[in-house]
Amino acid sequence: MPLVHPVAMLQAAREGRYCVGAFNVVDYLTIEAVVEAAEAQRAPVILQTSSGTVKRFGVPILVQMAEMAAGASPVPVALHLDHGTDREVIRQAIHEGYNSVMIDASAHPLQENIARTRDVVEESHSHGVAVEGEIGVVAGTEDDIVVQQDDAIYTTPEEALQFRESTGIDFLAAAIGTAHGFYKVQPRLDIDCLRKLAETAGCPMVVHGGTGLPSDVVTKLVAAGGAKFNVSTQIKQTYIDGLYEYVDSHRTEYHPLKLLNHARKELVEMIGQYMTLLGSAGKA
Ligand SMILES: [Zn+2]
Repeated sequence: MPLVHPVAMLQAAREGRYCVGAFNVVDYLTIEAVVEAAEAQRAPVILQTSSGTVKRFGVPILVQMAEMAAGASPVPVALHLDHGTDREVIRQAIHEGYNSVMIDASAHPLQENIARTRDVVEESHSHGVAVEGEIGVVAGTEDDIVVQQDDAIYTTPEEALQFRESTGIDFLAAAIGTAHGFYKVQPRLDIDCLRKLAETAGCPMVVHGGTGLPSDVVTKLVAAGGAKFNVSTQIKQTYIDGLYEYVDSHRTEYHPLKLLNHARKELVEMIGQYMTLLGSAGKA
């Protein structure tokens, strides 16, 4: 089916107490793997691209690749811009086929974050595109945004409500102690904080930094009200490990399709496991 708007998908997840997986894709192989896993699990899914991937391919090519993969699939697939910081990239995504964009102005003071986010919401909503905003700081490294884990602060329910009401965002990423990349120190997750935010904010909540969290923690985050669950680092790791593994045992075979298919199969399996864990399997 054609690409879908993610709001209905995320509202259903919020009400049904499960999470939609949002997987960072870096090329057509990863797009195919995410959609193939979604089909196998009958799960709604979000393809998302970082600004780095947008810089590599450009918006039109990413939209075409996502449309191609989604078009041949019976499950709902949305295309989302992850951590938009460049206003021009955000503008292009809104006008050229993305279903939602994230404006990440969380490094700015709250009032400035609100102003920048509201500006994106106005433009997006007039083009039928949804918006994810971020309040507080998610630690770790996301493209060129680096935040020390100790500097991450936790969002309060009052801040979340004020932020949503004054910006008009559709879904919200908040600081609950998760971090981007691999966890170097044990994260200090505040699951109760997420529960309160989910109750107060009145919109679907997004969990960033999904890679490397133990399964029981993921289950708790889902139960606490997470509706969108971002996985980026694990995609890169499984992809690259899959390639290494194959090359290592087939060093004199020159068959790129076999190599790439091996990595894709590994990705499909890993993504499928996330969908089961998040509860989105069987929901499409
Ligand atoms: Zn993130």
